[in-house]
Order: sequence, then structure tokens, then C-alpha cells
Amino acid sequence: VVAETPAPLPDAAPETTIKITNRDRVIFDDSDVTKGDLADYYAALSGLILPFAGNRPISLVRCPQGRSRACFFQKHDAGSFGDAVHQVPIREKDGSTEDYLYVDDANGLVACVQMGTIEFHGWGSSNETLEKPDRLVFDLDPDEGLDFDDTKKAAEYLKTQLAELGLVSFAMLSGGKGVHVVVPLTPKAEWPAVKDFADRFARALASAEPDRFVASMVKAKRKGRIFIDWLRNQRGSTAVMPYSARARAGAPVAAPVSWSELRDIDTAARWGVRDAEDLIARAGSRGLKGWGVADQVLPDF
Ligand code: ATP
Ligand code: MN
Ligand code: MN
Repeated sequence: VVAETPAPLPDAAPETTIKITNRDRVIFDDSDVTKGDLADYYAALSGLILPFAGNRPISLVRCPQGRSRACFFQKHDAGSFGDAVHQVPIREKDGSTEDYLYVDDANGLVACVQMGTIEFHGWGSSNETLEKPDRLVFDLDPDEGLDFDDTKKAAEYLKTQLAELGLVSFAMLSGGKGVHVVVPLTPKAEWPAVKDFADRFARALASAEPDRFVASMVKAKRKGRIFIDWLRNQRGSTAVMPYSARARAGAPVAAPVSWSELRDIDTAARWGVRDAEDLIARAGSRGLKGWGVADQVLPDF
């Protein structure tokens, strides 16, 4: 009998020095989650979030009055976040340069919460190699009326097809309706090549299984199908980051899962802001260790 090695837990939540005002303000009125709860969640999960969301351009879903009031998607620095939130200058299509936001520690995450942030979305490339993506993501968006089982099967199908091409992929519950299939990449190919791969891969699946999938954004074509949203894979696009909270009823979070446990999960909103302890314990478990990490490049396709 081989002894089970106990899974190492991430370090205890680091001390943060950001002052949270109105800690008791209810941000999720459906579940009584407050601004203070959300700040504590991000501090506790920072060790798990930052390897994915740190040191890359992020966009924030901010809902200063709570998720049921006005929310907005913020891409650029407004200069009001304080010293813990940093700027990275990025060249835009029109040749101008804009400052994007990034964080690199727990204080940065919590400073964003202080500014009303609920969700963290990130680019597919890091500051260091902005033009070379380090992940692909296929965002599976089921048409209304499809059940989660269809989405799970679709995710498995993508996993199998990616494996045929020699690519390891990982599943993440979006916290909303769908599943994201994440393919880590060694930053080598540039955006146009990665986008082209994602486009052709999604279209190949849709033409192989036209009754199940569409690869085009046109809503009318989606009837009873799953949209393989490959458009997250272009320069400037974002996807929700692992362990980000979602501004949706019940305060769910985007949750990495193993392929085997996905089979027994019946909702994309399985874990929430109140599950910090469980999420941290899970992340150290055998099934999730190494989630989202693989050294691989795009194959010829
Ligand atoms: P679900 O499982 O419910 O689909 P999701 O996170 O995949 O959850 P989508 O609507 O499929 O949600 O994805 C939209 C993506 O587009 C988000 O991941 C986000 O990064 C990006 N996005 C969201 N709002 C905006 C916006 N206002 N402008 C630009 N990009 C946005
Ligand atoms: Mn989606
Ligand atoms: Mn989508």
C-alpha cells in the first residue's frame, strides 16, 4: 500500500493592507454576500488566482452598488485604484497607446474589490509576452433550453479532439451557464496564428457535428446548439479568470474542475464566494494539482 501524500495547502491568506470601506454593504442581495465577504474571498484565494490573473492585462466587472444595480466592464486605468493596481501600456489597433490594468499581489485584487469589482477577466497573454498567448480558451455557450449535460458532453468532446492534436486541456465551470475548455500554451506563436487555429478548430467541430455545435456568433444559428466561442482567442479579448467571482445570482465563482469530477457536476455555478475553504482544499487535491499548466505549442492543423 502506497501512503497518500497529504496535499499541500496554499499559504494562509496573506495579510492585505487595503482599507475596505462599507464592508457590510450587501453586494449580492440574493445571498447576503457583502463587500467585506468578497474582499476576504479574494484575499483567501489570491494564491490560486494570481498565477492566472496576475501580471497580465485584466478587465473588471465593477458593480459599485451591488450586482443588481448598474455594472460596467472596465478595460482601462481610470487612475483611481491606488498603488496596488498597476498599468501596462498597450498599443491599440489605431496606433495609439492605452494603459491597461494589472495586479501582481493580494493587495491588488482587494484594491479592485474596494473599487466595486466583482469579476476579473484577463487577456490570453501576460505582460511579459503580450503578443504571444499563453492560453487558448474555448468558451462553450449553450443555447437556452439545453441542459448542463449537453454542455459537459461538448466539453469532453473538445478535450478528446484537442488530445488528438496532442494538446492537453482543462475544464473550468464558468460560474454562469457554460464550461470553458482551457489549453495552456508556451508563449511562442503570436496572436494571429493562435486566433487562426482557434477559428479553424471551432469550425471543424461545427462542420463535423452541425446538429450540436455552431462556431459563428450569429444568434439565429444557435437554436438548440452550443456555440463554441473561439473569439476569446484574439488580441485584446478577455475571458473570466479561474476563481473569479461572478456578478450573478447566488455569488458563484469560476471553478477549475478535473475532467473526471466534471461528469458528476450538474451546474456551472457549483461553487461560490462562500466556498473559499473548500476551493482551497480542492486545489491541493490530486485531481486538481497542475490544473491549467502544460508546456505545449500549437500543432500543425
Ligand atoms: P457563461 O458560462 O454564462 O457564458 P461566460 O463568462 O463564459 O459565462 P460569456 O458571455 O460567454 O460569459 O463571455 C463573455 C466574455 O466576453 C467574458 O468572458 C468577458 O471576458 C468578455 N466580456 C464581457 N463583457 C464584456 C464587455 N462589455 N466588453 C468586452 N468584453 C466583454
Ligand atoms: Mn460563456
Ligand atoms: Mn461567450
